[in-house]
Amino acid sequence: MSEMSRGPTARRASRLAMVARVGVGGTAPVVIQSMTNTDTEDVFATSTQVAQLARAGSELVRITVNTREAAAAVPKIRERLAQLNVDVPLIGDFHFNGHKLLAEHPACAEALAKLRINPGNVGKGARRDEQFAQLIEIACRFDKPIRIGVNWGSLDQALLARVMDENARRPQPKDATEIMREAMVTSALESAAQAEELGLAGNRIVLSCKVSGVQDLIAIYRELAARCDYPLHLGLTEAGMGSKGIVASTAALGVLLQEGIGDTIRVSLTPEPGGDRTREVIVAQEILQTMGLRAFTPLVAACPGCGRTTSTVFQELAQDIQNHVRERMPAWRLARVGVENMTLAVMGCVVNGPGESKHANIGISLPGTGEDPVAPVYVDGERVITLRGDRIAAEFRLIVDDYVMKNYPERQNH
Ligand code: SF4
Repeated sequence: MSEMSRGPTARRASRLAMVARVGVGGTAPVVIQSMTNTDTEDVFATSTQVAQLARAGSELVRITVNTREAAAAVPKIRERLAQLNVDVPLIGDFHFNGHKLLAEHPACAEALAKLRINPGNVGKGARRDEQFAQLIEIACRFDKPIRIGVNWGSLDQALLARVMDENARRPQPKDATEIMREAMVTSALESAAQAEELGLAGNRIVLSCKVSGVQDLIAIYRELAARCDYPLHLGLTEAGMGSKGIVASTAALGVLLQEGIGDTIRVSLTPEPGGDRTREVIVAQEILQTMGLRAFTPLVAACPGCGRTTSTVFQELAQDIQNHVRERMPAWRLARVGVENMTLAVMGCVVNGPGESKHANIGISLPGTGEDPVAPVYVDGERVITLRGDRIAAEFRLIVDDYVMKNYPERQNH
């Protein structure tokens, strides 16, 4: 039976088994990855950012390894992470000179959990195959999985020319978009086949084909998933800033994840100046959690507000409680089983407030304009208390904390 005919669930199960076997990301259903934007030569800055990303929930962190100094810094970054009690797997991102850097710095290869190579940037002409072979030999020697990461911005030009020539000879040539997609998939699959011929086990290979267009990404990954069994890393490259990047990534990843395609994901957001790099991790978690694929942090349902509530109290309370659970989550996750599945609702008036609040584990229905200044609180569907006055936020936080202690059992090994 082919992969396609077994359906998305079986397909994902098969790929997950492979992800687990390569020892990166564990057995989690879909694994979240992020990437640093610090200079890897700066051990302090890079290890600090890796720790921040890991603490935010990144289960794999990629760092660029572009110079001798960066390669020499990698084991020191690993060392400092150990001091910080952070054991997140590190992926080294190599282009152009990866074969040399890894040969000259075996401790770098040793410290990394996986190597990402870009078949379009391994080398030109005859040296491409030679340098690709050196990278695969190093991966085999150090027993490291490889991600073959094709990127539209750096697609192997010789391969593209070949695919275009073949297309020109067809009775009905495909259009430029189809050819671009075909070249991306061909680059990934041919490089993977080459790596296997060189001795790298198939279950040590992960593939990705990143582009910046949503429809291109969906079409390319559907094709990849139909044509191979390798675990697939998903991500829309150059997704962009702010809401544009979030919406584009969510649209593309949502469609593919729903079809059972994708084993690791990254949301490549361009941070605003001074913005927090961990945003991409939180967005990735929210994509998986809102799709019901994984649970990380209790999510707060909040009404959008309308003319029935003209104050900002419910918005402030929704923000306050979402921040509260995010802050408490690292400790709760260690101490309590299942707390990430808790649901909360903060509603603005009597129209949908009580109903929505009853559907959550804990919900509060704040008074809309002209309503009595009281806020009934519902716990597991039952109205348990009515809050009023200016301590509503503090009292609601206490109710949430109390609910966690009473409803989620302590972890045995805690
Ligand atoms: S719950 Fe009330 S305030 Fe919120 S959107 Fe609905 S009608 Fe408006």
